[in-house]
Amino acid sequence: MADANAPYRIKGETGEWEVVIGLEVHAQVVSDAKLFSGASTKFGAEPNTQVSLVDAAMPGMLPVPNRECIRQAVRTGMALEAQINRWSRFDRKNYFYADLPQGYQISQLYHPLVGEGTIHVLLDEKDEDSAKAIGIERIHVEQDAGKLMHDQHPTMSYVDLNRCGVALMEIVSKPDMRSPAEAGAYLRKLRSILRYVGSCDGNMEEGSMRADVNVSVRRPGEQFGTRTETKNVNSVRFVQAVIEHEARRQIEVLEEGGQIVQETRLWDPDKGETRTLRSKEDAHDYRYFPDPDLLPLELDEAFLDECRSSLPELPDAKRQRFERLGITPYNASVLTAEVETARWFDQLLEAGAEPKQAANWVVAELFGALNRRGETIDNAPVSPSQAAELLGLVADGTISGTIAKQVFEVMLSEGGSAAGIVEARGLKQTSDIGAIDTEIDRILAANIDKVEQYKAGKQQLFGFFVGQTMKAMQGKANPQVVNERLKAKLG
Ligand code: ADP
Ligand code: MG
Repeated sequence: MADANAPYRIKGETGEWEVVIGLEVHAQVVSDAKLFSGASTKFGAEPNTQVSLVDAAMPGMLPVPNRECIRQAVRTGMALEAQINRWSRFDRKNYFYADLPQGYQISQLYHPLVGEGTIHVLLDEKDEDSAKAIGIERIHVEQDAGKLMHDQHPTMSYVDLNRCGVALMEIVSKPDMRSPAEAGAYLRKLRSILRYVGSCDGNMEEGSMRADVNVSVRRPGEQFGTRTETKNVNSVRFVQAVIEHEARRQIEVLEEGGQIVQETRLWDPDKGETRTLRSKEDAHDYRYFPDPDLLPLELDEAFLDECRSSLPELPDAKRQRFERLGITPYNASVLTAEVETARWFDQLLEAGAEPKQAANWVVAELFGALNRRGETIDNAPVSPSQAAELLGLVADGTISGTIAKQVFEVMLSEGGSAAGIVEARGLKQTSDIGAIDTEIDRILAANIDKVEQYKAGKQQLFGFFVGQTMKAMQGKANPQVVNERLKAKLG
């Protein structure tokens, strides 16, 4: 396996290069209403059915900040260990485009709501030494624009303003990432935290999370190079592809003696390449100024307290708690990556399951079954309490691990409780020495040659005798008793 801790280098014609990456993630805020209007934010409605007079920028309309959107951004900042600015302000970012009737986007340039924070990632889930902290520069709150459709008809363009005015959090990272793998780990972790917090659904296909990918290259140890920014990339896989493609393109330009121009690029998923969209605009191109329609945001202690106390246990804390319960780091990491899995697993523990055994079972058996059936944990075919009952039967010796697999299959295909299935099908584990001895005697008699070999020193045959006995007992014999009896009989 590749060493996750080894620095990522790209070989060019003239030596090795290092990639520097910074991500700007636009995350749609979970809120019923838009940032400055009461219009609905529901996804998938008929075009232009969720547009208030404010969103359509009718003359005289005034924006009113939606408290819930601010609350969600503050909670997100807290979850990212970030500085929360008790005083922030909205600015107008002026540009003219048909998807933005106002002619400006209300955003926050000079005084963002949230300042510096951190995201902790593990590049290899099995290896605590692969941990890396990636800095957050800021989070600001802004309006989304509408959607233009140009290619519906050869001579027409259409606009759908449903998304216009929906609240976004722009989460800006520091240029701290050094490989596509790190960018992937960062995005997955960010998405996981947002979903735990409940401030963004993280659904990249529906566009609730989009990334602008900033990439530059340099010789290891030298100063940062000039970056390009590839806009609106909507999957982790594409972000990684953009980084690889863009780094190689830049290296080629530089090695041929050219220069990188700071520009905005577009990702073409069909061709698997980026291309120039426009040269980079600077803040002055947007003629930012404080929005005169809005007062500065001032947050009081009570509001901050409520935001803080409404946060759930977050993935890192949960993972550490699971590890303290004896769960392996890998299982703990898998079980906490998705909030739904983590919640399900916590319910399993609350129902009395032993943590280590439960973790192994969920990761191997339950995930296996969900994969085979194409299901997710939200609609898992067994409930945490049903699973706890099954695991309890193994823990107290009523059934063996092998039988538990059979019982689980029946629970999946026919339903019913674990205890009921064990009872009805007579699957209880037996420690009945008489019955076990009878089978052992029969097996030893039928395998005299192997018994000789074993006695002559071929120790590994012991497993063969155990296997045969368990098979003869249809998996119901207590393995410990089988071991003891075999040892006694083989001398
Ligand atoms: P702007 O406001 O022009 O978009 P920022 O300074 O806010 O510029 O940076 C935007 C993003 O670009 C941030 O995520 C930052 O980490 C990243 N970035 C800055 N410099 C570089 C660089 N040399 N290489 C790669 N990414 C960079
Ligand atoms: Mg930017």
